[in-house]
Amino acid sequence: MKTESGNTSDRTLKKEDLFRYLRDPSLVSGLADAVRAEMPRNRHIKIMHVCGSHEHSVQRWGLRSLLPENLEIIAGPGCPVCICPAFEIGEAISLARKGVIIATYGDMIRVPTPYGSLMKEKTGGAGVQVIYSPMDAVAIARNNPGKEVVFFSAGFETTVAPAASLVVHGDLPDNFSLLTSHRLTPPAMELLLGIGDVHINGFIAPGHVSVIVGSEAWGLFPRAYNMPVAVAGFEPANILLGLLMVLRQIKNKAARLDNTYAQVVRPEGNPAALRAIETAFDVVPAWWRGIGRVPRSGLVLKPDFIKTDARKKFGIAASPERNELPPGCSCHLVMLGKIYPSSCPLFNSKCTPETPYGPCMVSQEGTCLIWSKFGTA
Ligand code: SF4
Repeated sequence: MKTESGNTSDRTLKKEDLFRYLRDPSLVSGLADAVRAEMPRNRHIKIMHVCGSHEHSVQRWGLRSLLPENLEIIAGPGCPVCICPAFEIGEAISLARKGVIIATYGDMIRVPTPYGSLMKEKTGGAGVQVIYSPMDAVAIARNNPGKEVVFFSAGFETTVAPAASLVVHGDLPDNFSLLTSHRLTPPAMELLLGIGDVHINGFIAPGHVSVIVGSEAWGLFPRAYNMPVAVAGFEPANILLGLLMVLRQIKNKAARLDNTYAQVVRPEGNPAALRAIETAFDVVPAWWRGIGRVPRSGLVLKPDFIKTDARKKFGIAASPERNELPPGCSCHLVMLGKIYPSSCPLFNSKCTPETPYGPCMVSQEGTCLIWSKFGTA
């Protein structure tokens, strides 16, 4: 941002300086040395993150190449578009076919499902519009008073907060409603710990989700599961510091919660956002594509907001829960951290960023797309 005198503002300078610092090669290699020094020699350690932005940074900056061979950092179910059940995308598709305008985020419209895709509907002339914020969806409704507009709102806690705020505080037009596919992250992490062949030794918790839910949301893992956790940001130094803290906990045999992103993550999170979420939504069991039913991981609008609930407004019956991955797609194994994308026989052959076959190759937060974009090292 330029000031009137043409100089770059202090605020932008500080942000740029911070990025430069957190990407500084000497800082990064010093942290990588510290990680190597903490590694137990005769043990294989697997640390999982559950965030597409973490995976993006790990691959973009080649962080795996800096780690010792017996330390793995693996991606879990950190992509909300990838885990959005095909049958819920099918609900949006069927509304689009009835002449309803569907407003949703860009990645979602490309996801292939057995019901087709929103992109196909758009190409065929349906009213499918890409938005960048929930307010864009409201503006579409105000600008089209003769049409019904549905905001297909999917995502984890970071996107739940603005959707909740919209419902609770927004002065919404009558022709506007929400079709939600929101999921909560901690219950999925809990589920992973119960899967026998995943063998996770520690978690890196997602920084931006933590801004909303607070670092304390992850305290359950060291307390109930003796599982080391560090909340981390997204630059190379942030991630390596998170790994270092988890390794120290493993070495000291003392699982705890380390918040290495305390400049933006408070223990209690964002109370206003949490209040809005609690006011707008009830917590329910929910289906995760490729993973299955996860207890206490979904959100449905409370009866108070029935007017803005597209499922109620359009009489959408509960869809049967099914895992609808295309035949041969290994997204479920990728999202559970059981394999890397390059182990999928279709990776970069039948399934590419231009012709995605499975959901993990669509979203910018999908592990397969990230690996295809930045290489497999
Ligand atoms: Fe599925 Fe494609 Fe990833 Fe294979 S490469 S797991 S087909 S998304």
